Amino acid sequence: MSGKIRVTVWNEFRHEIRNERVKAVYPDGMHTVIGEGLLETGDFEVKYAWLDKDPEHGLSEEVLQNTDVLVWWGHMAHADVKDEIVDRVQKHILQGMGLIVLHSGHFSKIFRRMLGTTCSLKWREVAEKERIWTVEPAHPIAQGLPEHFELPHTEMYGERFDIPTPKDVVFITWYEGGEVFRSGVTFERGYGRIFYFAPGHETFPIFRDANIRRVIANAARWAAPRIRREITCPSVPALEDIRTKPE
Ligand code: ZN
Repeated sequence: MSGKIRVTVWNEFRHEIRNERVKAVYPDGMHTVIGEGLLETGDFEVKYAWLDKDPEHGLSEEVLQNTDVLVWWGHMAHADVKDEIVDRVQKHILQGMGLIVLHSGHFSKIFRRMLGTTCSLKWREVAEKERIWTVEPAHPIAQGLPEHFELPHTEMYGERFDIPTPKDVVFITWYEGGEVFRSGVTFERGYGRIFYFAPGHETFPIFRDANIRRVIANAARWAAPRIRREITCPSVPALEDIRTKPE
Protein backbone atom coordinates (compact mmCIF):
# COMPACT_ATOMS: atom_id res chain seq x y z
CA MET A 1 0.00 0.00 0.00
CA SER A 2 1.37 3.36 -1.03
CA GLY A 3 -0.98 5.36 1.19
CA LYS A 4 -1.92 7.41 -1.82
CA ILE A 5 -5.50 8.13 -2.90
CA ARG A 6 -6.36 5.89 -5.86
CA VAL A 7 -8.05 7.87 -8.61
CA THR A 8 -9.50 6.46 -11.82
CA VAL A 9 -9.92 9.15 -14.46
CA TRP A 10 -12.71 8.11 -16.84
CA ASN A 11 -12.94 9.92 -20.16
CA GLU A 12 -15.35 9.34 -23.02
CA PHE A 13 -12.27 9.81 -25.31
CA ARG A 14 -14.06 10.24 -28.64
CA HIS A 15 -13.71 13.98 -29.38
CA GLU A 16 -9.91 13.68 -29.17
CA ILE A 17 -9.90 10.88 -31.74
CA ARG A 18 -12.48 12.27 -34.18
CA ASN A 19 -12.02 16.05 -33.98
CA GLU A 20 -8.71 17.65 -35.09
CA ARG A 21 -9.29 20.80 -33.03
CA VAL A 22 -9.67 18.77 -29.85
CA LYS A 23 -6.77 16.48 -30.75
CA ALA A 24 -4.56 19.57 -31.08
CA VAL A 25 -5.35 20.57 -27.47
CA TYR A 26 -5.30 17.06 -25.96
CA PRO A 27 -3.28 14.76 -28.28
CA ASP A 28 -3.23 11.89 -25.75
CA GLY A 29 -6.75 12.50 -24.46
CA MET A 30 -8.10 14.77 -21.74
CA HIS A 31 -7.78 11.99 -19.16
CA THR A 32 -3.97 11.97 -19.38
CA VAL A 33 -3.81 15.74 -18.76
CA ILE A 34 -6.26 15.55 -15.84
CA GLY A 35 -4.18 12.67 -14.46
CA GLU A 36 -0.94 14.64 -14.92
CA GLY A 37 -2.42 17.42 -12.76
CA LEU A 38 -3.19 14.93 -10.00
CA LEU A 39 0.18 13.17 -10.24
CA GLU A 40 2.18 16.40 -9.89
CA THR A 41 0.84 16.77 -6.30
CA GLY A 42 2.36 13.43 -5.25
CA ASP A 43 -0.84 12.53 -3.35
CA PHE A 44 -2.48 10.24 -5.89
CA GLU A 45 -2.09 6.97 -7.74
CA VAL A 46 -3.83 7.47 -11.11
CA LYS A 47 -5.35 4.96 -13.51
CA TYR A 48 -7.27 5.63 -16.71
CA ALA A 49 -10.45 4.23 -18.19
CA TRP A 50 -12.51 5.23 -21.23
CA LEU A 51 -15.71 4.32 -23.03
CA ASP A 52 -14.21 2.03 -25.69
CA LYS A 53 -11.41 0.58 -23.55
CA ASP A 54 -13.25 -2.75 -23.13
CA PRO A 55 -16.86 -3.99 -23.01
CA GLU A 56 -17.18 -2.64 -19.44
CA HIS A 57 -15.84 0.85 -20.38
CA GLY A 58 -12.77 0.08 -18.24
CA LEU A 59 -14.95 -0.01 -15.12
CA SER A 60 -14.95 -3.65 -14.02
CA GLU A 61 -15.99 -4.58 -10.49
CA GLU A 62 -12.31 -5.05 -9.68
CA VAL A 63 -11.35 -1.59 -11.01
CA LEU A 64 -14.09 0.09 -8.95
CA GLN A 65 -13.21 -1.89 -5.81
CA ASN A 66 -9.72 -0.44 -6.15
CA THR A 67 -10.85 3.12 -6.90
CA ASP A 68 -11.16 5.69 -4.10
CA VAL A 69 -12.31 8.50 -6.39
CA LEU A 70 -13.72 8.29 -9.91
CA VAL A 71 -13.35 11.36 -12.16
CA TRP A 72 -15.86 11.55 -15.04
CA TRP A 73 -15.70 13.49 -18.33
CA GLY A 74 -18.27 12.67 -21.02
CA HIS A 75 -20.20 14.58 -23.68
CA MET A 76 -21.24 13.15 -27.05
CA ALA A 77 -21.79 9.54 -26.04
CA HIS A 78 -23.57 9.58 -22.67
CA ALA A 79 -26.18 7.21 -24.14
CA ASP A 80 -23.48 4.64 -25.03
CA VAL A 81 -22.61 4.07 -21.37
CA LYS A 82 -24.27 0.78 -20.45
CA ASP A 83 -26.91 0.92 -17.73
CA GLU A 84 -25.37 -2.08 -15.94
CA ILE A 85 -22.11 -0.10 -15.59
CA VAL A 86 -24.04 2.92 -14.28
CA ASP A 87 -25.69 0.59 -11.71
CA ARG A 88 -22.26 -0.66 -10.67
CA VAL A 89 -20.75 2.83 -10.32
CA GLN A 90 -23.80 4.01 -8.34
CA LYS A 91 -23.45 1.04 -5.97
CA HIS A 92 -19.81 1.93 -5.27
CA ILE A 93 -20.62 5.62 -4.68
CA LEU A 94 -23.38 4.71 -2.19
CA GLN A 95 -20.85 2.46 -0.41
CA GLY A 96 -18.32 5.29 -0.10
CA MET A 97 -16.42 5.83 -3.38
CA GLY A 98 -16.01 9.50 -4.36
CA LEU A 99 -17.19 10.93 -7.71
CA ILE A 100 -15.98 14.08 -9.46
CA VAL A 101 -18.03 15.05 -12.50
CA LEU A 102 -16.52 17.55 -14.91
CA HIS A 103 -18.12 19.97 -17.37
CA SER A 104 -20.45 18.22 -19.88
CA GLY A 105 -20.65 15.28 -17.51
CA HIS A 106 -23.63 17.19 -16.06
CA PHE A 107 -25.74 15.17 -18.55
CA SER A 108 -24.02 11.84 -17.89
CA LYS A 109 -26.19 8.91 -16.83
CA ILE A 110 -24.29 8.52 -13.57
CA PHE A 111 -24.64 12.19 -12.52
CA ARG A 112 -28.37 12.30 -13.32
CA ARG A 113 -28.84 8.96 -11.56
CA MET A 114 -27.14 10.20 -8.39
CA LEU A 115 -28.98 13.55 -8.36
CA GLY A 116 -32.39 12.51 -9.65
CA THR A 117 -33.03 15.73 -11.61
CA THR A 118 -32.59 16.66 -15.29
CA CYS A 119 -29.26 18.50 -14.63
CA SER A 120 -30.08 20.80 -17.56
CA LEU A 121 -28.58 24.28 -17.98
CA LYS A 122 -28.11 27.08 -20.53
CA TRP A 123 -25.02 27.04 -22.77
CA ARG A 124 -23.19 29.14 -25.37
CA GLU A 125 -19.93 28.38 -27.15
CA VAL A 126 -18.22 31.64 -28.20
CA ALA A 127 -14.91 31.34 -26.27
CA GLU A 128 -15.84 34.08 -23.79
CA LYS A 129 -14.04 34.85 -20.51
CA GLU A 130 -15.06 33.17 -17.26
CA ARG A 131 -14.39 34.50 -13.75
CA ILE A 132 -14.69 31.89 -11.01
CA TRP A 133 -15.45 33.18 -7.51
CA THR A 134 -14.41 31.15 -4.47
CA VAL A 135 -17.46 31.69 -2.28
CA GLU A 136 -16.56 29.20 0.49
CA PRO A 137 -12.84 29.83 1.08
CA ALA A 138 -12.84 27.63 4.20
CA HIS A 139 -14.04 24.58 2.26
CA PRO A 140 -11.37 21.87 1.69
CA ILE A 141 -11.99 22.08 -2.09
CA ALA A 142 -11.15 25.82 -2.02
CA GLN A 143 -7.83 25.37 -0.20
CA GLY A 144 -5.11 27.56 -1.75
CA LEU A 145 -7.41 29.13 -4.34
CA PRO A 146 -7.62 32.92 -4.74
CA GLU A 147 -10.85 34.84 -4.11
CA HIS A 148 -11.41 34.82 -7.86
CA PHE A 149 -9.57 33.56 -10.91
CA GLU A 150 -10.19 33.63 -14.64
CA LEU A 151 -10.17 31.41 -17.68
CA PRO A 152 -9.57 33.47 -20.85
CA HIS A 153 -11.77 31.24 -23.04
CA THR A 154 -14.56 28.97 -21.94
CA GLU A 155 -17.96 27.58 -22.84
CA MET A 156 -20.75 29.37 -20.95
CA TYR A 157 -22.90 27.22 -18.66
CA GLY A 158 -25.70 29.34 -17.18
CA GLU A 159 -28.44 29.12 -14.58
CA ARG A 160 -30.82 27.71 -13.96
CA PHE A 161 -28.84 24.56 -13.36
CA ASP A 162 -31.48 21.93 -12.58
CA ILE A 163 -29.86 20.19 -9.63
CA PRO A 164 -31.13 19.49 -6.11
CA THR A 165 -29.99 22.04 -3.52
CA PRO A 166 -26.26 21.24 -3.13
CA LYS A 167 -24.63 20.45 0.20
CA ASP A 168 -22.10 23.23 -0.47
CA VAL A 169 -21.72 25.79 -3.25
CA VAL A 170 -17.95 26.28 -3.31
CA PHE A 171 -17.57 28.25 -6.57
CA ILE A 172 -19.81 30.60 -8.53
CA THR A 173 -18.87 31.66 -12.04
CA TRP A 174 -19.56 34.93 -13.87
CA TYR A 175 -19.30 34.92 -17.66
CA GLU A 176 -18.41 37.78 -19.96
CA GLY A 177 -21.83 37.49 -21.60
CA GLY A 178 -23.57 38.19 -18.29
CA GLU A 179 -24.77 34.83 -16.95
CA VAL A 180 -23.83 33.27 -13.62
CA PHE A 181 -23.53 29.60 -12.66
CA ARG A 182 -23.06 27.47 -9.54
CA SER A 183 -19.85 26.07 -11.02
CA GLY A 184 -18.53 24.06 -8.07
CA VAL A 185 -21.08 22.15 -5.99
CA THR A 186 -21.01 19.20 -3.59
CA PHE A 187 -23.48 16.44 -2.76
CA GLU A 188 -23.51 13.37 -0.52
CA ARG A 189 -25.30 10.19 -1.50
CA GLY A 190 -25.14 7.16 0.79
CA TYR A 191 -21.57 7.20 2.16
CA GLY A 192 -20.19 8.75 -1.03
CA ARG A 193 -19.18 12.32 -1.76
CA ILE A 194 -19.83 13.96 -5.14
CA PHE A 195 -18.32 17.16 -6.58
CA TYR A 196 -19.42 18.75 -9.82
CA PHE A 197 -17.12 21.31 -11.48
CA ALA A 198 -18.25 23.17 -14.61
CA PRO A 199 -15.02 24.22 -16.43
CA GLY A 200 -13.52 21.78 -18.94
CA HIS A 201 -14.73 22.32 -22.50
CA GLU A 202 -12.72 20.12 -24.88
CA THR A 203 -11.45 22.79 -27.29
CA PHE A 204 -9.70 24.89 -24.58
CA PRO A 205 -6.62 23.82 -22.55
CA ILE A 206 -8.55 24.23 -19.27
CA PHE A 207 -7.14 21.07 -17.64
CA ARG A 208 -3.63 22.52 -17.99
CA ASP A 209 -4.56 25.58 -15.87
CA ALA A 210 -2.92 25.58 -12.42
CA ASN A 211 -6.03 26.78 -10.52
CA ILE A 212 -8.27 24.23 -12.23
CA ARG A 213 -5.77 21.48 -11.39
CA ARG A 214 -5.73 22.61 -7.78
CA VAL A 215 -9.54 22.46 -7.58
CA ILE A 216 -9.63 18.93 -9.00
CA ALA A 217 -6.84 17.71 -6.68
CA ASN A 218 -8.54 19.29 -3.64
CA ALA A 219 -11.82 17.69 -4.67
CA ALA A 220 -10.19 14.27 -5.05
CA ARG A 221 -8.77 14.54 -1.50
CA TRP A 222 -12.16 15.68 -0.17
CA ALA A 223 -14.10 12.93 -1.98
CA ALA A 224 -11.84 10.06 -0.87
CA PRO A 225 -13.85 7.45 1.09
CA ARG A 226 -14.12 7.90 4.86
CA ILE A 227 -15.68 4.44 5.15
CA ARG A 228 -16.47 1.83 2.56
CA ARG A 229 -19.48 -0.22 3.54
CA GLU A 230 -22.48 -1.91 1.98
CA ILE A 231 -25.83 -0.34 2.92
CA THR A 232 -28.35 -3.01 3.93
CA CYS A 233 -31.88 -2.97 5.35
CA PRO A 234 -31.73 -5.44 8.27
CA SER A 235 -34.53 -6.59 10.59
CA VAL A 236 -32.97 -6.45 14.08
CA PRO A 237 -33.74 -7.72 17.60
CA ALA A 238 -34.36 -5.08 20.32
CA LEU A 239 -31.45 -4.09 22.57
CA GLU A 240 -33.72 -3.72 25.62
CA ASP A 241 -36.71 -5.68 26.88
CA ILE A 242 -39.75 -4.04 25.28
CA ARG A 243 -42.67 -3.77 27.76
CA THR A 244 -45.13 -1.77 25.69
CA LYS A 245 -46.27 -4.67 23.50
CA PRO A 246 -50.07 -5.22 23.45
CA GLU A 247 -51.32 -8.17 25.62
ZN1 ZN B 1 -18.38 21.80 -23.60
